[in-house]
Amino acid sequence: MQLTPLPAFNDNYLWLWHTNTHAVVVDPGDGEVVLQALQRLQLQLAAILVTHHHADHTGGVDMLRTATQAQVYGPAGEAIPGPFVPLSGGDAFDWQGQRVEVLDVPGHTAGHIAYFVPAADTAPLLFCGDTLFSGGCGRLFEGTAAQMLASLDRLAALPGDTQVCCAHEYTLSNLRFALAVEPHNPALQAYHVRCQGLRERGQPTLPSSLAQELAINPFLRSRQASVIEAVQQRSPQALDEVAVFAHLREWKNKF
Ligand SMILES: [Zn+2]
Repeated sequence: MQLTPLPAFNDNYLWLWHTNTHAVVVDPGDGEVVLQALQRLQLQLAAILVTHHHADHTGGVDMLRTATQAQVYGPAGEAIPGPFVPLSGGDAFDWQGQRVEVLDVPGHTAGHIAYFVPAADTAPLLFCGDTLFSGGCGRLFEGTAAQMLASLDRLAALPGDTQVCCAHEYTLSNLRFALAVEPHNPALQAYHVRCQGLRERGQPTLPSSLAQELAINPFLRSRQASVIEAVQQRSPQALDEVAVFAHLREWKNKF
């Protein structure tokens, strides 16, 4: 099985997960980009996985379903272009002998789900849509800080070698914020240098790994003393873990 990120729009990645003959695409905001890749790589589209309802994740669904007859899977709690198989946390299905598990990760949207493949060939895979980014997390459009914190806790509990397939190349701007929160984190400094090099060469910084994110991502580190201190310096009223997380997210919104 192979993983190919297809760049789309300004900074989206549409993830293609495929054998030599068949593919699954995650969050196809642009159907044309996917069709071109299928043709180039000589692949047949078997399934479309959707994490949440935003147009840059669903815009190509109807066109791809019509062109390929691929089965569409999506969050039970959201309005995805139908017909689709509605999924929620605890559901699972098999594709090419691989088990795909569904996790509920509300926060960015109310019914956001993620897809986790525990036994992929090399390392587990996570398709997390706009919930977790490298060095950051999604904005809270529909959910609360408490929901997003619980969702990120759910992802943080996955194995450290999990390949984190985020839906946007936001890494460098996220890392500028992360460095403002934790300027003395050596893992973060080293990761920033590595990602700058990748982007200078026009390469994606993704997938990241969960272990990497746990070491550098302030939104997965909101219970670390260094992060709490940085947040409380700006927002002394942030006293419990949800308040710290909420103020951290607010700080990023204005950064
Ligand atoms: Zn979104």
